[in-house]
Amino acid sequence: MELEYLMLANKTALVTGSTSGIGLGIAKALARQGANIVLNGFGDVEGPKAEIAALGAKVAYHGADMSKPAEIEAMMAFAAATFGQVDILVNNAGIQHVARVENFPVERWDAIIAINLTSAFLASRLALPAMQKADWGRIINVASVHGLVGSAEKSAYVAAKHGILGLTKVTALENATSGVTCNAICPGWVLTPLVQKQVDAKAAALGLSNKEATNQLLGEKEPSMQFTTPEELGELAVFFCSPAANNVRGVAWNMDGGWAAQ
Ligand code: NAD
Repeated sequence: MELEYLMLANKTALVTGSTSGIGLGIAKALARQGANIVLNGFGDVEGPKAEIAALGAKVAYHGADMSKPAEIEAMMAFAAATFGQVDILVNNAGIQHVARVENFPVERWDAIIAINLTSAFLASRLALPAMQKADWGRIINVASVHGLVGSAEKSAYVAAKHGILGLTKVTALENATSGVTCNAICPGWVLTPLVQKQVDAKAAALGLSNKEATNQLLGEKEPSMQFTTPEELGELAVFFCSPAANNVRGVAWNMDGGWAAQ
């Protein structure tokens, strides 16, 4: 399809942590709608870049470490210099660490709060002025069902995800009379490298096969017994960018197989 007829033609989306998992799924869904994409994250870069380019979208990459404010500033300047401005900001980069509060390494707490929460504030504050000037913008924060409920041994993650829902509401309210919206996505389990590590840890600790550990993980929390996919989450991000979502402001939308309904 000709890109200029697509919904997000001539828009630019920057997705943090998009070399893998949910971020890459969202970047691909936005690219399919014609958006230029700025990728960010660690690991293989050429593979994800090629996947976006194969969809016909323009793609650039910046390797900012989302725990470093100066690198976030450089990434936002790079995106503006490459494509004009950032119209859609998806704050997605995130890490996990699992331990009880009394055993939780202080350094891991600081890293999770920096990457999963503070980076969203730092990128949003730099993206907002151009969005406000254009009277159109979308900030999508990838929170988690852990923004709504807690789980043992995830203190920093749950605190960061509850925090990002607060940031989402305030950003939405401050821009409520404009064309700039801010909303959050709250996935349950999604089978990405971040979760595969938790399956592996369960399998090793309990002497289970990968399949048994996966079923136990799902069975503890997710009534559907199914993973949500990066593709499904990408379509939710596309909805938030659509005209139908012009007045959707400050919501936390679960895609969690019924996790938070219990
Ligand atoms: P993932 O590990 O597949 O991807 C994480 C991405 O973030 C990667 O691209 C990685 O390179 C990048 N990243 C990590 N640290 C970074 C840093 N310091 N600077 C820049 N990039 C960095 O994980 P995922 O499961 O796709 O997670 C993406 C987001 O979705 C996270 O915010 C996570 O909390 C959230 N989430 C995941 C699940 C799940 O079940 N997988 C559920 C709910 C919410």
